[in-house]
Amino acid sequence: MSPGGSLASLKHCAPPRDDDLDARLARAERRVVRERAARIEAEAIAEQGLRRLYESQQRLLLLQRITDGANRTAEIEAALRVAVTEICRHMDWAFGNALLVSAQDGAVTGCDVWYAADPDAMFPFVEASRHVRFETGVGLPGRILADVRPHWIDDVTADANFPRLPVAAHCGLAAACAFPVMVGDEVAGVLEFFARRLIVPDEDLLGIMGQIGTQLGRVIERDRARRGLIHDALHDAMTRLPNRTLFMERAENAFVRMKANPHACMAVMVVDLDGFKSVNDSLGHQAGDALLIDVATRMQACIAAAEEAARDVGASWRATLARVGGDEFNVLVDDVVDGAAVGRLAEAIHRCLAAPSVLAGTHMRCQASVGIAFSNPTYADVEQMLRDADLAMYRAKSQGRGQSVTFTEQLGTQVRQRTQVEHELRKAIAERQFVLHYQPIVSLDDPDSICGFEALIRWNHPVRGLLSPAEFIDVAEETGLILFIGDWVLREACAQAASWHWRTGGERLPFVSINISPQQFLQPEFVARVHAVLMETGVTPAAVRLEVTEGVAIMDAARTSAILEEIRAWGVKTSLDDFGTGFSSLSYLQSLPFDALKIDRSFVAAMDDSGKSRGIIQAILNLARTMGMTVIAEGIETVEQEELLQRMGCDMGQGFRYGRAEVNAEAFAKLAVC
Ligand code: C2E
Ligand code: MG
Ligand code: MG
Repeated sequence: MSPGGSLASLKHCAPPRDDDLDARLARAERRVVRERAARIEAEAIAEQGLRRLYESQQRLLLLQRITDGANRTAEIEAALRVAVTEICRHMDWAFGNALLVSAQDGAVTGCDVWYAADPDAMFPFVEASRHVRFETGVGLPGRILADVRPHWIDDVTADANFPRLPVAAHCGLAAACAFPVMVGDEVAGVLEFFARRLIVPDEDLLGIMGQIGTQLGRVIERDRARRGLIHDALHDAMTRLPNRTLFMERAENAFVRMKANPHACMAVMVVDLDGFKSVNDSLGHQAGDALLIDVATRMQACIAAAEEAARDVGASWRATLARVGGDEFNVLVDDVVDGAAVGRLAEAIHRCLAAPSVLAGTHMRCQASVGIAFSNPTYADVEQMLRDADLAMYRAKSQGRGQSVTFTEQLGTQVRQRTQVEHELRKAIAERQFVLHYQPIVSLDDPDSICGFEALIRWNHPVRGLLSPAEFIDVAEETGLILFIGDWVLREACAQAASWHWRTGGERLPFVSINISPQQFLQPEFVARVHAVLMETGVTPAAVRLEVTEGVAIMDAARTSAILEEIRAWGVKTSLDDFGTGFSSLSYLQSLPFDALKIDRSFVAAMDDSGKSRGIIQAILNLARTMGMTVIAEGIETVEQEELLQRMGCDMGQGFRYGRAEVNAEAFAKLAVC
C-alpha cells in the first residue's frame, strides 16, 4: 500500500470531531514520514550490503584467479606476473611491480615482473622500477622489509623516503601501496602498486592482500625447493663446484656457439691431482675429502682472480671449473682470443697448488697434471676435445708432477700408435710372437773365449718383421704387459741355458744374462717367481745372471739388498745394468751387493775422443775392484776400445766386436768353436 493511499483512506472514514480528526491526521502523517525514512534507510542498508557482498565476491574471485595462476606454474616470476596484472586490473591501479629479496645480501630487488595499464605513458617509471634495489628501510619496498606490514603513501611526490620521486611525478603517479610476500615469518618479496588517485585501504583489501602474499610465498617456497633440487643435480655435493652434467651442458653450449662463429675458439683442460690416492690411502678418506675441498676452493679462487685480471686488460674469456671425478677436475675456457691466456691459466693453477694445504695440523702438498685441448674445425663434439685433453694430461703425468701439456696432432699420432702397439702386444703375448737373441759376452783377458750371453728380446711382428725392444718395451712397461713378457723371457732364457749345458755335457757353463724390467723387479712375488723358474727349468743357478738398472735398484735400497742377498744365496749372479746413465749414486752402490757392474755403452763410445770418459771408466773400475765386483763394458765395437779397456783392467766385454745378438743356434755354434 502506498503512503498516499493510506492517507486518502483515513480522510474518507466516518467524520469524528474536527480537532480530534486533525490530531489523528497529524499523527498519521508523522507515522508515514517515519515509516518512509525507515524504509529508505532499510533499502540503503540492503543496497550497501549487496555492494559489499559484491565487492567481496569480486575480491574472492581475484584471490581465486591469483591462486589458480600460482598453482599452474612452478616459476615464481610467472606467478608474480599473474598477481601484479590481476590486482592492477581489478583495482584499476596504473602500475604494479614485483620485487624479490636477494638471498645474497637481503636487499629487495626488482625482478622485471610488472604491469602498466598504459605502458607508453608509464615507460620512465617502468624503467626505473624493473631492476630497482632497496636496502631495508629505504623507499616503499624497504619499509616493508623493515617492519613486515603493508604500507600506503597518499602522495608520493610529498614523501621524503621515495627515491623514484621525480619519475613518479613525471608519470603523474600520486598514491602508492605495497604488500609483503611472506614465506613463514620472513619477507621473501614485495608487491608495490601505484595510482593516479588516492588509494584508500580497507580491512577487506588488506585481508585479501595478506592472503595473496601467503599464496605467492608458497610458490616461492616451491620454487626454492625446485631450484635447490636442480642445483644439487648439477653440483658436486662435497666441493660445491659444478659437476660433470653441468660442465658438459656448458661445454656443449660453448661448442655450438664456437661452431657458429668461424673466429671463435674455446679450450678444455683436464686437471688430475698427482698422488692424491696416496693421501687417501695413508691419511684416510676424511683427510682426502678435506684436501679435495681445499684444492677446489683454491683453484676456484685462482680462476676467478685470473678472469678478473684478464678482464682488466680487455680479455673476455670465461672459465668454468667442475669436479668430474674423484680427483679429476675439468676447466672450460670459453671465448678464447689469445691461446697463451689458457697456458697462463694452467700456470696459475700450478702456482696456486704449490703452497701446502694445512689440514688438521698436517701439511699436505697436492700438485696436478694438466692436459689442454684447443678447439679446431676437425672436432665434431666436446667429447672429442675432452678425450684429447685427457691424452695430453696423461702425457703431462708421464713427465712428472705439476706439468701441463697441450694436445697436438703429433701427440695424437704418438698416442694412437702406442694404443695400436698395446693392442698388438696383447696379441703377441697370446700368439707367442717373441724370440730371444743372444749376444756374446767375452773375457777381455782372452776375447776369443765366450763367458756367456745376454738374452735380448725381439718381437717377430707378423707385418713389420723383427722389432727391437726400443719399439715396444716402454709400452709394455707402461701397460704392465712387461710382467707377462718378462716372465716368458726368464723362463725361455733359463731353459735355453739348461739346454746348452746339457748339450755340452755340462763341461762348459756359459752364463745367460737376463734383463729384469723395473715392474718385474718391484713385484712382491719376484723372488718366488725366479725360484720357481729355476726349479722348473733345472738350470744351474750359477749360470744365471739377472740384470737390473740402477734407477729401480736404488728405489728401495733395503728391499733391493734383501732380494740380492736371497738370490745370491742360491748361486744366481746379479748385474747392475747401464751403469753411468742414471743417478750413479756411489753411496747406494756400496750398500747393494751386486756381483757385476755393466758400464753403459755411451761411455765406451765416448772413450775414443774424451779423456774425461776414460777417467770415469777408470774410476768405476777402481771402485768396483774395491767392492769386489766384476766389470763388464758394453758396446765395444773397435779394437782400440778393446785395448784401452784391457789396459784399464776391465774384466769382460760385450759389443759388436764380438758379435751381435743372434738366434740361439748361431750363438751356440759360436760357443762351440771358441
Ligand atoms: P741393454 O740391456 O743395455 O742391452 C744392450 C743393448 O745394446 C742391446 O740392444 C744390444 O743389441 C746393444 N748393443 C750391444 N752391443 C752393441 C754395440 O757394440 N753397439 C751398439 N750400438 N749397440 C750394442 P737391444 O737388443 O736393442 O736392447 C736394448 C735394450 O732393451 C736393452 O739394453 C734392455 O734394456 C732392453 N731389453 C732387451 N731385451 C730385454 C728383455 O728381455 N727384457 C727387458 N726388460 N728388457 C730388455
Ligand atoms: Mg742388459
Ligand atoms: Mg745395458
